Amino acid sequence: MLEQIQNKKDLKNFTLSELQDIVVRLGEPKFRAVQIFKDLYEKRVGNFEDFKTIPKSLRTKLEEEFTLNSIKSFKKQTSVDGSVKYLFSLNDNKNIEAVFMPWLTEESDIPIRTTLCISSQVGCAVDCKFCATGKLGFTRNLQTSEIIEQITLIEKDLDTKLTNIVFMGMGEPLLNYKNVIGAIEIMTDDNINMINRKRITVSTSGVVPKILQLADEKNPVKLAISLHATTNGVRDLIVPLNKKLNIQKIMDAVEVYYRKTKMPVTYEYIPFDGLNDTDRDAKRLAKIAQRVPSRINIIPFNDISFTNPTGYAAELKPTPRVKIEEFAERIRFYGGVVIVRDTFGDDIDAACGQLALSVKEGV
Ligand code: SAH
Ligand code: SF4
Repeated sequence: MLEQIQNKKDLKNFTLSELQDIVVRLGEPKFRAVQIFKDLYEKRVGNFEDFKTIPKSLRTKLEEEFTLNSIKSFKKQTSVDGSVKYLFSLNDNKNIEAVFMPWLTEESDIPIRTTLCISSQVGCAVDCKFCATGKLGFTRNLQTSEIIEQITLIEKDLDTKLTNIVFMGMGEPLLNYKNVIGAIEIMTDDNINMINRKRITVSTSGVVPKILQLADEKNPVKLAISLHATTNGVRDLIVPLNKKLNIQKIMDAVEVYYRKTKMPVTYEYIPFDGLNDTDRDAKRLAKIAQRVPSRINIIPFNDISFTNPTGYAAELKPTPRVKIEEFAERIRFYGGVVIVRDTFGDDIDAACGQLALSVKEGV
């Protein structure tokens, strides 16, 4: 019985056009799909009885073939800065994390924007030396429903509407392309008012062929490149993917992306003390970021010593804060647009690159 349930697909795996095919196959008119879609993403229906807009016969057929819940929240930690880390368990007992970040100003307690950092895979195969998720290795891709439910469950739990989504949690989103695109298509569907496509960011370590494919999607989103080095020699050491897909190839792909989408690109850059934070790095970084309109986000290195790093990973040291500000100034001097990003959730290990699970499996 349990096996049967596990083999059923979640209804949130399907885009509207796929749902239309499903309802037609079940002998129902196509418009029922929009009703189901709105029930799922506007009313946030969590069980089949609550689909009030469709006939009972269709409800029964759907229930026979599909499930509705792919992930369960089992741990929630709130940071002093207001960010909240959620730990979810999946139906096969694997775990993933998502982090909610409110952007507050001094004037008000109401955040000016609320960003959710979501996961796209269980673990990651890319193995960047500075990243806690990389240390876990790759387990599996998330399904579309498992990506979407991070949003729907957290919005419900916090009784809030998210303004921004960033694919910066666990995993390399462009190595789970189909399911990530499915999730983006659902989020940006005109029939539901979930997230504006310009407020969705896909962050990649540089999967060039998929950057090019993303540029051709009908709903382009923002692109962020995790660069972290300005020479291939250094990048090869910390982002192993660079040996195949190097900085020049990424820059060419970024240029195509910008030409096709007209959306400015973000470069993410973690300064490591004495490795990639020299004046010459600042100059090269500014040059890279001037090829198309781009912004550089300097991300302070978040400690990953809790993963017991070995080899090269153990030698990486954060550039001290004062030096980071100087580095940012140098980049500005050379013509780059740069911001130094605040880190969220340091105290609960929720900052970027710290989304490695203390509990690997089970609840
Ligand atoms: N795989 C994708 C998205 C997830 S990682 C990517 O690499 O872009 C999200 C961001 O966190 C990336 O920019 C990544 O380089 C950064 N990151 C990883 N580990 C980090 C750490 N220890 N400190 C700060 N940022 C880190
Ligand atoms: Fe994977 Fe991104 Fe971490 Fe690299 S930084 S190991 S690509 S999650």
